[in-house]
Amino acid sequence: MRLEVETSELERIGKAFQAISKETSYEGLAKALLKAALDYSDAGRGAVLLSESGELLTRADASFPRERPKFLASQPPASEFRLPVDLSERVLTRREIVLRDDGWEGSALIDSARCRRGPIVQLCLPLIHRDQTVGVLYLESERKETFGPRYVSVVSMLASQAAVSFESVQLFEALRETNLWMVKGQQIGRMGSYRWNTRTLLSRASRECYRLFDIDFDVNPVPFEVFKSRVHPDDIPALEEALAEAVGTKSPFSHEYRVVHRDGTTLHVAAVGQFDVGPTGDVELEGIISDITDRKAAEQALTDARTELARAIRLASLGELAGSIIHEINQPLTGIIMSAEACLRWLERSPIEPAEARRSALRVIEQGRRAGDVVAGLRTLVRGAQLRFADVQINDAIEEILLLLKRDLERAGVTLNTALDKSIPTIEGDRVQLQQVVLNLVRNAIDAMASVTGKRRVLSLSTKVGGAGVAVVIADTGIGIAPASRDRLFDALYTTKRDGLGLGLSICRKIIAVHGGRLWVEENTPNGATFTFTLPLHQSGSISANH
Ligand code: ADP
Repeated sequence: MRLEVETSELERIGKAFQAISKETSYEGLAKALLKAALDYSDAGRGAVLLSESGELLTRADASFPRERPKFLASQPPASEFRLPVDLSERVLTRREIVLRDDGWEGSALIDSARCRRGPIVQLCLPLIHRDQTVGVLYLESERKETFGPRYVSVVSMLASQAAVSFESVQLFEALRETNLWMVKGQQIGRMGSYRWNTRTLLSRASRECYRLFDIDFDVNPVPFEVFKSRVHPDDIPALEEALAEAVGTKSPFSHEYRVVHRDGTTLHVAAVGQFDVGPTGDVELEGIISDITDRKAAEQALTDARTELARAIRLASLGELAGSIIHEINQPLTGIIMSAEACLRWLERSPIEPAEARRSALRVIEQGRRAGDVVAGLRTLVRGAQLRFADVQINDAIEEILLLLKRDLERAGVTLNTALDKSIPTIEGDRVQLQQVVLNLVRNAIDAMASVTGKRRVLSLSTKVGGAGVAVVIADTGIGIAPASRDRLFDALYTTKRDGLGLGLSICRKIIAVHGGRLWVEENTPNGATFTFTLPLHQSGSISANH
């Protein structure tokens, strides 16, 4: 029977030791020690204070923890803990274990003392770690017998264990704070760190990386396929290429791409990294991924502003052009008036001077022709050439243009798919002008695909005949058209190209309109643009070229 009691008591002490040594925070340690000490007696009241206001807390490293907080656990909860001066002196400074049973009435637990009267017994022990007093365990009771010698020795052992645990708590707390610091820093900087094993293709990543890629925290490590599923599909080929090259040469990795979240949010990220051998002996890419969406937006705004500026400059130079046109035409006009007045004067002479009058009249004709030439020249400049309507076999006209563009298409890495409807009858139109339209649309398509990397560049050109007439469809897999700019594409001088004039589409639309047809643009699927123009099958009468 006696043996059983001792065994169960030993078990309780063992459990209390375990509970104390399991703690990884100051607060947890203070609470665990107090609970163990109270559970083991009928004291009922007590407190544990870690890092008392003196120089009690040693640091785990130079910077963490940055402050020296106090941790108080008390039963019943007390707002303040104040050791009487003599106790403090003996326990904290002289490191004595003090048992006071001489009818003392002042409790160290400030609030709870108010509800209680009468003498108390106090037991107070220092917590000593590496020769420093890092805390105090305080217990009180009304009964003298509560703190018998056996109890005091068990509680001293618990206090020693708590002081030992203090060391690991210190390390844990420092680690926690360092980690928190790093996580916070990454969160503020919108950047995450990662390690990618090039053999297993698995990645380990910081929390911010998970947020940037919208991956659930429980996916750990992250398989390459999961990571890839968040990369914008258009950016995957280029990313894989960049990764393969970096892995092949073991050179530093640096690449920008887009990330698409499950809710469709798109981010621009910049990844950098370098290779080293990981703990398992595998080659790993270690680096940082940062969110550069804001930077990209700013860059885009700058590009837009530049485009606007370029357009404004072009408009201003059009003003200059108009000025020189006026000058060019004014000269012959003034000449005409002067020559005509001279002619009149020769005719009004008496006798008449027919030879001189004739010469003046000839000058009028000559200058009139000059003015006519200037106007014709300007028209050629603006309209290309005069429209000459004739029977046109549209498929042949297109094939001729494609032959002309063969080298451009090859150079631009564009695959050409044609589907020309052989049943199309001849139509009436200006062959050269219609070819100009096709040439322009194909050139634009090549330009639109030039900046698309890592994906196939395909130009599909088809013709078909239907109720509305002939339709010519030119589809590309280029950058496509932003909805905001769709209405402006056909405006004269609208361009997004550095060297563009912004006249191509507006001229194309005019040419097609003169033919009685329509030209419009739609989105191509999954990406790119589709330009379609229609031409009526039978022109009613001939159309004046001077529209
Ligand atoms: P320019 O080629 O001189 O810019 P255009 O009038 O031919 O003038 O084209 C106007 C604008 O329309 C281009 O700058 C471009 O932004 C847009 N665009 C034309 N074709 C395409 C296309 N196939 N895909 C995407 N954008 C296009």
